[in-house]
Amino acid sequence: MEKLMFSREVPVRYQAQVVVVGGGPSGFCAAVAAARIGASVLLIEEGGFAGGMATRGLVGPFMTSYDSSGETMIIRGLFDELVRRMEARGGAIHPAKVRAGTPFTSWIVLGHDHVTPFEPECLKLVMDEMLTEAGIQVLYHTRFVEPIVEEGTVRQIVIDSKAGLAAVQGEVFIDCTGDADLAYRAGVPCEKGNEALGLIQPASLFFRMGNVQLKPLQADIDAHRDQFYRKDGVNYRSLHWRVSEAREHGDWPLKRVSIGMFRSVKEDEWFINTSRVMGVDATDNESLTRGEMEGRRQVQIIFDFFRKYVPGCADARLLCSGSTLGIRESRHIRGLYRLTVDDLLDGRVPEDAICLASNSVDVHGRFGPLSNEYVAIRNGRWYGIPYRSLVPEGFDNLLVAGRAVSAESDAAGAIRVMPPSMAMGQAAGVAAALAAQGKKPVHSIDVPALQEHLRAQGAYLDL
Ligand SMILES: Cc1cc2nc3c(=O)[nH]c(=O)nc-3n(C[C@H](O)[C@H](O)[C@H](O)COP(=O)(O)OP(=O)(O)OC[C@H]3O[C@@H](n4cnc5c(N)ncnc54)[C@H](O)[C@@H]3O)c2cc1C
Repeated sequence: MEKLMFSREVPVRYQAQVVVVGGGPSGFCAAVAAARIGASVLLIEEGGFAGGMATRGLVGPFMTSYDSSGETMIIRGLFDELVRRMEARGGAIHPAKVRAGTPFTSWIVLGHDHVTPFEPECLKLVMDEMLTEAGIQVLYHTRFVEPIVEEGTVRQIVIDSKAGLAAVQGEVFIDCTGDADLAYRAGVPCEKGNEALGLIQPASLFFRMGNVQLKPLQADIDAHRDQFYRKDGVNYRSLHWRVSEAREHGDWPLKRVSIGMFRSVKEDEWFINTSRVMGVDATDNESLTRGEMEGRRQVQIIFDFFRKYVPGCADARLLCSGSTLGIRESRHIRGLYRLTVDDLLDGRVPEDAICLASNSVDVHGRFGPLSNEYVAIRNGRWYGIPYRSLVPEGFDNLLVAGRAVSAESDAAGAIRVMPPSMAMGQAAGVAAALAAQGKKPVHSIDVPALQEHLRAQGAYLDL
């Protein structure tokens, strides 16, 4: 390919102690947590609102924030505050009230106790409010472009917006892009998907469906509930009997065998997680473009199926699909510690744990487009995510939070969900503020002090 040298002078337009790139679940929490302990914070988000996959991707509900016995809420802090603030506006149901095996969990039991249904529109609003209250300078419609790096330190980053290219000066940077865009371009070694197997988790385009009649739908589920089963790595769950019927009539060209549908806060509105687009590389715009188009094609097929075959859905309406394809997996950074599946399944809690979680390992598509591995932790009630997994190798002022942290691909399949992503974001925010305020490299901060600050911010860290 022909190459071109490109050099420009840009104004250093913004400055902050902590600069957060990406305003999804992790980036939002990183920004608020850093600001609440007194750091000046700039948040850069390419969309027009915060929330990432929860708003742009219509992904929901928030997966469990409880321990594996379902007794104790272990992801609290900013996650809990956000949910309570949404609930006060009628935009969420607190996970304490939501149990497994119900319409809120697509009638799934394993690993789905105490999920949190929420309204993305309410989430956008509450996130705006909390960012504003915390005094954070928020730049929506602004995209991170390139870092300027000198000997393991990110000096500035270049951003782009309708106002043109500009630079941002920061003391500590937190990469919450989900794809480790900043870390990767700064030179942090990354693995994309599961490189040993040459696989990456499939993408899915969520859609939202309204005017669903719960009673006939629930009756159909109840009549077939004892027919949920798992065979050859494939889960036959909600409505697989209807999918078979549609397939027999030539109305189901897709490979999926059952339907993921999650009731929202409102009884007649549902979030549908059923499309599956294999082989999307979220770091490649051409691949993303193909994925978006294929996702939309599948959404239409799935919606038509609902109207024709599913009781209670004859008059359903397709309200909208996600404004972005849902990306389960892309880059995983190489950090000071690479979290393993055994760490999680054995319920290990390292000394430098910054949050606890119990989410099961959830790997889609490993054995072909149909398969779904879902492995619950086998020891204890939770595991801990170490601070070291948020610290990229070889950098003094860079942290990563959310789905791109340093973990084996399968381990990331557990901790990538939104409550742990938020808890990791909160920890990264506090750590960045401590590093900036104490003029210390991120790898040398006082970890017990970080944990104390997190407890003071409401985190549950029973180590
Ligand atoms: C199909 C699917 C189903 C899922 N189901 C669930 C579920 O039921 N429950 C659950 O809890 N989790 C679920 N997840 C997982 C969860 O949604 C994500 O893993 C989680 O949102 C990760 O949070 P994050 O903050 O790391 O990244 P994201 O949510 O991806 O946020 C990243 C943010 O960074 C911004 N950004 C990216 N690049 C740039 C850039 N260069 N410049 C500026 N901004 C940038 C993006 O616009 C986005 O707002 C699902 C995910 C998918 C894809």
